Amino acid sequence: MSKALIVGGGIGGLATAVAFTRRGWEVEVLERAERITEVGAGLSLWSNALRALDALGLGEQVRARAIEDGSAGIRDSKGRWLSRTDIETVRARYGSPIVVHRADLLEILRDAVPESALRTGVSVGEVRADGTVVHSAGVSTGDVIVGADGIRSVVRRAVCGEVTPRYSGYTAWRVVVTPAEPMGDLGETWGSGERFGYAALADGRVYCFAAVTAPADRPSAGLAELRDRFGDWHEPIPRLLAAADESAVLHNDIYHLPPLPTYVAGRIALVGDAAHAMTPNLGQGACQALEDAVVLAEVATRDPDLTRYDAERRPRTQMIATRSERIGTVAQLSWAPAVALRNAVMRLLPPSIQIKALAPVLDWTA
Ligand SMILES: Cc1cc2nc3c(=O)[nH]c(=O)nc-3n(C[C@H](O)[C@H](O)[C@H](O)COP(=O)(O)OP(=O)(O)OC[C@H]3O[C@@H](n4cnc5c(N)ncnc54)[C@H](O)[C@@H]3O)c2cc1C
Repeated sequence: MSKALIVGGGIGGLATAVAFTRRGWEVEVLERAERITEVGAGLSLWSNALRALDALGLGEQVRARAIEDGSAGIRDSKGRWLSRTDIETVRARYGSPIVVHRADLLEILRDAVPESALRTGVSVGEVRADGTVVHSAGVSTGDVIVGADGIRSVVRRAVCGEVTPRYSGYTAWRVVVTPAEPMGDLGETWGSGERFGYAALADGRVYCFAAVTAPADRPSAGLAELRDRFGDWHEPIPRLLAAADESAVLHNDIYHLPPLPTYVAGRIALVGDAAHAMTPNLGQGACQALEDAVVLAEVATRDPDLTRYDAERRPRTQMIATRSERIGTVAQLSWAPAVALRNAVMRLLPPSIQIKALAPVLDWTA
């Protein structure tokens, strides 16, 4: 039986473990954390990701724990519409996007991997060119070595040397809140160098996120800063922030990777953020990790030469990362005349253009 050795037990690593298991491979997952967990936040999964989950046999389970994304569009800080999403057309054309709690997705993926394959508390220090993986509990190897160890990947060094992640220019907060009353229209609100978004979760909670243009490593005052910045924006933003709990607020500077020259070296392959950590503006980072998992297991099962995986995945994921970065640049504009122009153009753009632009991202099949 062939063996896949997977470094990292996040969404990308576990999805890859499921994909190889379904194809009859033995898998071993090395995860440095003591427990397989995800942060307390929501995740939007577009129809391309749902097709990848269907290919893994998990689509229905994930849909059952999720809610269809009802985002209505983008507004300005006073609540006036800049663009409205024709969600019915999106559904009809591409299939429904969903929002799921990260912990629910991770639990479904973890439960689909044989318990004996998961080794937690094992930190990988080096991957040698011959595929030997040196870690805190000894040495492991496999017919395929998968780097699913995130943006600061150790495995990546064996594929394309040292690559330094780039700061996007903005910092982000995420928090899941339990609002006292149901929300109205959901979506995003764009200001000047500031953004706030909110999406419903299946259990009545609401996933909120915010991004602010700022230098890297700037300390944040947490919820107080969010209330200070967004407390006078349109409802329900002040209400959501009033319902938020300081201990649940996550804060991260947003980094992404420059385009890598390759995702494979011999029998070593990169998936997810280790290969293409992207800005979250399109909500596609995890979606692409799920696609990677399906394609890598399919390619590796047919042929020990993994170059087809690189040829299939690198152009697509790098195209999506570039688009996501561009959206971030527009969304985070802070110079008043540029913001006014952006808002005017957005009001004029017909929804049909927005829907057509999604095609290269969402039209993916396993
Ligand atoms: C604010 C924000 C919002 C986002 N929203 C969305 C969204 O709505 N939709 C979407 O699709 N994507 C979204 N993303 C992107 C998404 O979160 C990531 O693309 C995805 O989680 C990447 O998964 P991964 O498994 O590749 O990496 P990670 O989640 O980083 O997992 C890597 C794993 O490897 C382990 N590891 C690392 N180094 C080692 C080592 N040396 N040895 C052993 N184990 C190791 C880590 O502990 C970790 O468990 C968002 C990202 C951010 C920052």
